[in-house]
Amino acid sequence: MDSSKNNEKIVIFTDLDGTLIDHKDYSYIDASKTLKSLKKRNIPVILCTSKTRGETEKYTDKLNLRYPFIVENGGAIFIPKDYFSFKYPFDKTMNQYNVIELGTPIAQLNKVVKQIKKEGFELKTFSDMSVSELSKETGLTKMDAIRAKKREYDVAFRILDPKDKREIAKIINAAGYNTSAGGRYHHLMGANDKGHAVKILTDLFRKRYGGSLKLKTIGLGDGENDIPMLKNVDIPILVKNREHKKPEINFDVTYTEFEGPKGWSETIEELLFESKSD
Ligand SMILES: [Mg+2]
Repeated sequence: MDSSKNNEKIVIFTDLDGTLIDHKDYSYIDASKTLKSLKKRNIPVILCTSKTRGETEKYTDKLNLRYPFIVENGGAIFIPKDYFSFKYPFDKTMNQYNVIELGTPIAQLNKVVKQIKKEGFELKTFSDMSVSELSKETGLTKMDAIRAKKREYDVAFRILDPKDKREIAKIINAAGYNTSAGGRYHHLMGANDKGHAVKILTDLFRKRYGGSLKLKTIGLGDGENDIPMLKNVDIPILVKNREHKKPEINFDVTYTEFEGPKGWSETIEELLFESKSD
């Protein structure tokens, strides 16, 4: 069976934490059945996350998602080498992937970290922390803390004195980079976001499916950093998350009734499967 219906091809872009996986216990059990139906119909599910490559691959392996995926808030797109049969530009190959790099390599970002420290501001990056320190701080297992530390396009850091925040942001902006605040950590990164990466992959899928089939993209996310992704899909879906403030959105989105993977699958089922006669 394939996903074409009325000459339409569906591609799904999705965030992980708080969206496809539960924000507390990281479970995706409530989405398993829907993921199976999607696989049966050859509908690609593209992970689009702030996690690192190692953390994301854990999920592509577990969920058997043999599709391209987007890591570190749009820092890079990893495309399995044999996925698209036509030629397209990429920046490097790594293991079984062609990699499109959109973020700034961390070696360059670390120069700014050095400068911040030199100017007398105290901050602690993931690489300054030991595995057990990070695991204790985040609640991640030690294996997952190792994966989370392997950042390639984003420096996650903690500011030791909160009143340094503005000065540190100034140095980062003066160097031409961006900063964003997460719940516990700040991030230093280049000009990347999830939306740009989604756009590039959408163009590749459009090319793959050719002119006779219409591509329809669905995007699902729960947080502020998902907004650029939701802006760049045909059907944006905001997954409920009571853990943080609802992000402000000034365009039409579908709100899920339930949180996390339950909200994820119910909305997908409703959109794709329930109204169809097959
Ligand atoms: Mg999230």
